[in-house]
Amino acid sequence: MNKIANRAWAATLLAIVLFLGLCTIVLRYFRDSKDWYLHQSNSDVYSGGHLNSGKVYDRKGTLLLNAENGRTYPDDALLRRSTLHLLGDVQGNIPDHMMEYYSDELTSYDLFGGTQDASNVSMTLTVNGQIQKAATDAMAGRKGCLGIYNYKTGEVICMVSGNTYDPLNPSEVDDSDAYAGVYVNRFISSVYTPGSIFKVVTSMAAIEQIEDLDSRTFFCGGSCVINNETINCNSYHGKLNFDKAVSKSCNVVFAQLAVELGPEIMQKYAEQAGIGERMLFDGFKTAAGGIDTEGVPENELAWVGIGQSTNRINPCQYMTLMGAIANGGVAAKPYVVSKIRCGQEETYRAATTMGDRIMTEELAARLDQALHGAVVESYGEWNFSGLYVGAKTGTAQRGGGLAANSLLTGYIKDEAMPYAFIVVIEGGGSGGRTCLPIMRQVINACLVAKDME
Ligand SMILES: [Zn+2]
Repeated sequence: MNKIANRAWAATLLAIVLFLGLCTIVLRYFRDSKDWYLHQSNSDVYSGGHLNSGKVYDRKGTLLLNAENGRTYPDDALLRRSTLHLLGDVQGNIPDHMMEYYSDELTSYDLFGGTQDASNVSMTLTVNGQIQKAATDAMAGRKGCLGIYNYKTGEVICMVSGNTYDPLNPSEVDDSDAYAGVYVNRFISSVYTPGSIFKVVTSMAAIEQIEDLDSRTFFCGGSCVINNETINCNSYHGKLNFDKAVSKSCNVVFAQLAVELGPEIMQKYAEQAGIGERMLFDGFKTAAGGIDTEGVPENELAWVGIGQSTNRINPCQYMTLMGAIANGGVAAKPYVVSKIRCGQEETYRAATTMGDRIMTEELAARLDQALHGAVVESYGEWNFSGLYVGAKTGTAQRGGGLAANSLLTGYIKDEAMPYAFIVVIEGGGSGGRTCLPIMRQVINACLVAKDME
């Protein structure tokens, strides 16, 4: 009797163990099967470390990349070069952020149905391939970046990093200086000394904090001395008001304004402008800029006000500041993936998200007056095909005998093209001389693209 009872207990115990084991397997299947399926060793999903993520198109339906079973590219070499930093490369030197970020939407694994039809997966981007090409062409192999986005919707129209190379011919990259940092997406991951484009931030502070700003007359004798340091201007400007100081980019006026405003207010407005923030979209994460005013002497604060010192800005973030000025103080957050289809199903569709208000409508309008004035008085409206544009150029000194970086940032106020833009050319010298012709060429490409829509 004892023996039978013991056996019954043993059988029951065994049954319990088996049952618990089965439960664990079922639970883990529900919880982890997607991770098992998406493991890099699954050749249905990955090949050569890359997700088989279907076809990637630009906003016009032009194929940019076919990522089914490896990677095949379009025949157009300039298109391949101009989208390299967006899409990543085969070797993994440049990450494919978007495909990793949307791996769920691109694979649409389900527990009972299993895998999708890999041949019918597509991702559509907000960029325009023609404008990407125009930007890469205009940059002509120089290092830097160019970005354009729609500040009302958030769609990134163009996002190009230079220098670049043909992903079908990675061996063209050599140790020469021309390819230094070639794997970096400079639009997203770089920070630059802003030079005079930072005068936009100093202007924000001055307009709101200096009550009699508009009735003041400043004087520029070609240089000024602050705390025993001589700060040179780009010219002898004589008597000038605030708007003329913006359009002439007068260092003397902006150095004095920064000292008058003081470190706390300069810091506050840099933060309000979002200089130190990182932007996150579609797997991209921008580098954070910043300014340092803590305990700095007045001569250093003067350099902060004119965009030198240790000031740093990220091009993508700064472009959105321009969007906010154009859009009454608040701009849409940028994004680059507009939709994803997986088989018959649309698994992702982007929506416009507005950023925080970073300035009042009044401040945005006053800045617009000054920045549009700079285009009319100094840069030439003809550079922007007669569109209503506000802009600021910058020539950022780098020291160490290196040629200055050239910068240009601004916005177009136009119903059909509500775009903010930025271009940076490393070692390009004068911001106006180098960047204005580049932006002119790219805005012309935008106008052509618009006509074709
Ligand atoms: Zn001056």
